[in-house]
Amino acid sequence: MPQKIAVFPGSFDPITRGHESIIRRAIPLFDKLYVAIGVNAEKRGFFDVEQRMNWIRQVFDNESSIVVTSYEGLTVDFCKQNNVRYILRGLRTSADFEFERSIGQVNKKLYPEIETVFLLTAPGYTFLNSSIVRDILRHGGDASMFVPEQIDLKNISIK
Ligand code: ADP
Repeated sequence: MPQKIAVFPGSFDPITRGHESIIRRAIPLFDKLYVAIGVNAEKRGFFDVEQRMNWIRQVFDNESSIVVTSYEGLTVDFCKQNNVRYILRGLRTSADFEFERSIGQVNKKLYPEIETVFLLTAPGYTFLNSSIVRDILRHGGDASMFVPEQIDLKNISIK
C-alpha cells in the first residue's frame, strides 16, 4: 500500500484551537501530514512565517507523522513535489463550503490525482478563526483560550 500523504494548507496566522482540532483528528487518517503555510509575497502576515511554524511545531512536538513547512505558489504544485495525494480542509459553515467547493474543483482540474478531504469543525470551534485572534491581540485582549495551550502569547511582539 502506498503511503497516504496529506497536506493541511493555510495561513495559520496564528494557529487556533480550531486548526489544532482538525489536525489531531486527521492524524489517524494519514501516514504523513504536512501542515503547510502558504506564503504570498504580496501579503505579509501578522506574524512572520518562522514564528507561525515554530508555534505549530511546538504543539505537535510528539507527533511523528506531522511535518511543518511553508511553500510558495500553488498548493497542487506543493502536492506534486511532495507526493501528496490528499488536501485536508476544515468546514465551519456553508460559506466555507461555497469557498472550498470552487478551490477543490479547480485543484482537481489542475491535478486529477488529488482528493480534497473535509472534516467538519467541532461545534465548539465554529465561530473561531485566526482573524478574531489577531483582533483580540491587536487590542490587548487575552486570546489564550483560542490558541493551543502550548502557545504563550504573553511575550509576543506585534507589528
Ligand atoms: P486560509 O488562509 O486558507 O483560510 P486558515 O489558516 O484560515 O487559512 O485556515 C486553514 C484551514 O483551517 C481551512 O480549511 C479552514 O477551514 C480551517 N479552519 C480555520 N479555522 C477553523 C476552525 N475554527 N475549525 C476548523 N477548521 C478551521
